[in-house]
Amino acid sequence: MDVVVTGGAGFIGSHLVDALVARGDRVTVIDNLSAGTRENLAGHLEKGTVTLLTADLLETGWEDQMEGADMVFHLAADPDVRQSAVTPERQVQQNIVVTTRVLEAMRKFRVPNLAFTSTSTVYGEASVIPTPEEYTPLEPISVYGATKLACEALISAYSHSFGIRSSSFRFANIIGPRSGHGVIPDFVRKLRENPRELEILGDGSQTKSYLEVSECVRAMLFAVEHAREPVNVFNIGSEDWIDVTAIADIVVAAMGLSEVEYRYTGGERGWVGDVPRMLLSIERLKSIGWKPEMGSRESVVAAARAMAGGG
Ligand code: NAD
Repeated sequence: MDVVVTGGAGFIGSHLVDALVARGDRVTVIDNLSAGTRENLAGHLEKGTVTLLTADLLETGWEDQMEGADMVFHLAADPDVRQSAVTPERQVQQNIVVTTRVLEAMRKFRVPNLAFTSTSTVYGEASVIPTPEEYTPLEPISVYGATKLACEALISAYSHSFGIRSSSFRFANIIGPRSGHGVIPDFVRKLRENPRELEILGDGSQTKSYLEVSECVRAMLFAVEHAREPVNVFNIGSEDWIDVTAIADIVVAAMGLSEVEYRYTGGERGWVGDVPRMLLSIERLKSIGWKPEMGSRESVVAAARAMAGGG
């Protein structure tokens, strides 16, 4: 297949590219390298197995990369939930406007398939846990979650209006090597600066589901292969959860530290828009044959080891 991956130089995108190249796809990455890096794709760029177009999807000039493509994986976004309370308009641009541009380019060049990376935050503070895809009302409490829900709505409309088969994936917390944001890189960074004390946002009791990035990529590719409707929505996560203090303990151990004093900023949420409890039902994906091989704790241990070892 000829595949375009937006945001393919980023954390999840570069792992997805690894898997697409491994299965023999011809891959073009469009990324403005605002968060992604060439290093994440270095092996492929050296071998010439991936084409990287460094371009901002808010600008023009990249659209003809869609010509002849069989599928687009649209990952480019500003994924920072916390920052979305500080710069909401930026997230509207980076998430909603960028997605509209991608959909328009797909329409123009008649690309038939789309996979989109949405988020558990579209559910807001769900009263049903584990939360299934049918859960309503969808009432995001962060601007980030709202922008992703708006993207899902646009994708639904473009799918039905212009014959694009789409799969939107509502991710739990995805973790692993190359990740630049989220709780584990945050703890690793803080502990490198001060190995005696760790600031923990909130009261440490926020409890959520985590999934290792290779499992996430495996789930996406499996789901795309089995998607039958014009519009498909899948939760992707593990089947259990873990609290933030337990994650701190795992990161401290992975870095070979001890006697680290935890300093909690307090409150049941770490920041404006933080959902304190999140666990997704993954029955829909399981019913078609995918299930995760790792739980949240194992995923966190693997990610912490990988990131604590790196530079
Ligand atoms: P990331 O920041 O590593 O990846 C995003 C990529 O998009 C980066 O490489 C960045 O350079 C690129 N990008 C951003 N704006 C762009 C623009 N205007 N033009 C071109 N490129 C642009 O983040 P990630 O964690 O790999 O997230 C990938 C996707 O998954 C995002 O859509 C994110 O919202 C979604 N997601 C991630 C998680 C998670 O836990 N990591 C959870 C839910 C959803």
